[in-house]
Amino acid sequence: MGKVRITEYLEIDCDTEKWCCSRCGHELYNARDNYKKGCLVYENPLEKVHPPLAPDASYNFTPDKDFSRLIEFYCPGCGIQIENEYLPPGHPITHEIELDIDALKARQADERQADQRIS
Ligand SMILES: [Zn+2]
Repeated sequence: MGKVRITEYLEIDCDTEKWCCSRCGHELYNARDNYKKGCLVYENPLEKVHPPLAPDASYNFTPDKDFSRLIEFYCPGCGIQIENEYLPPGHPITHEIELDIDALKARQADERQADQRIS
């Protein structure tokens, strides 16, 4: 069947039902589950990403690490950053993309049949 692009760096291989990196093709995880489980995860320090702009902590625009953290998700194959999210400390990673894989495969099969009728 082939691959379907989902986001800039994510695609689904309908044959293997795997999330894949669109940059290097690395298989990340089961497409019926959260792709983030197949990514390398890094917590980037907020003071590095948002360095203080003023000496007074009340006005320096650096998020308070007691209330927020920056979690980044990378492809283990090529190292591209696939996604990031700001979460409260202790909050589990989010599962923001959940697709109907059976419907995706059926649509791809229909498109393939239509292409065969045209050619
Ligand atoms: Zn990759």
